[in-house]
Amino acid sequence: MSVDLDALACYYRIHALPGAPPEPARFAILRRCLPRFAELFARHGVRATFFVVGADLEDDAEGRAALAALARAGHELASHTHTHPYDFVRLGAARVADEIDRAHAAIAACAGAPPVGFRAPGYEISAEAIEALQARGYHYDSSVFPSAAYYGAKAAVLGAMRILGRESGSVLGNPRVLLAPRGPYRPAPGAPYRAGGDGILELPIAVTGVARLPVIGTSLIVAPGWLRARMVVAALRERLFNLELHGIDLCDAAADDVPAALVARQPDLRRPLAHKLAALDETLSFARASGARFATLAQAAASLGPSP
Ligand SMILES: [Zn+2]
Repeated sequence: MSVDLDALACYYRIHALPGAPPEPARFAILRRCLPRFAELFARHGVRATFFVVGADLEDDAEGRAALAALARAGHELASHTHTHPYDFVRLGAARVADEIDRAHAAIAACAGAPPVGFRAPGYEISAEAIEALQARGYHYDSSVFPSAAYYGAKAAVLGAMRILGRESGSVLGNPRVLLAPRGPYRPAPGAPYRAGGDGILELPIAVTGVARLPVIGTSLIVAPGWLRARMVVAALRERLFNLELHGIDLCDAAADDVPAALVARQPDLRRPLAHKLAALDETLSFARASGARFATLAQAAASLGPSP
């Protein structure tokens, strides 16, 4: 289980909303949503991986303390870059290294141990970034999301926004990701979406077998119950069900002061918190009853083989 802790400011960039979230909403993910994840995971005896944006730790002592407490309780804090740039893989070697190194230092200071896992913003990774992670002793990357349904939907939204004259901060990645393996693999040198190397592990985000439907928090929350059950059953057939959630998945739009302009563009924000919690509670209970063992991604990577 993993949770990407993207701040609401990231969603402002995706939807090309002007300005930045107002003061209480600015910290909503770490101060309001994170404690709800902590309770959900405690209820189910789950230790999870939290992908942290390094810069978010700088001016939020409360969020920092909450994450440090989760690390002490056995959860993993991993890197989601320092500033969450959607064009991460296009930044060039020096800035890619800088994003990794600054986040690494901030997260290590908070967790009391250096991160060993990484997830790039926007599900796109490069051979250059994989090499940089390997050189720094990381054990795994978990950025690959080989879902045609997701890729197609993203292409449609970005295209529609361009026609309307609103340029999204998000970027449509390399379509080679659609041919990437669904299960864990070691990327080939120079080809991050192909198996064949002997370096760090890639842990792709869960998709279903044939249709490659995305099995992530957002789809579990917005899908009707029967479809959710089918997606979870399909994902549980694999050796690793890498379930990716986002901090915003447990946002309560009204109680967390989320601006109406963002609620209007983000359908999952219009679902009541109780509904979203019920969908995740049901998923975790079902997985447990099916015999699944819960693990952080670092634990999953360790069980899949020694790190280089
Ligand atoms: Zn993110």
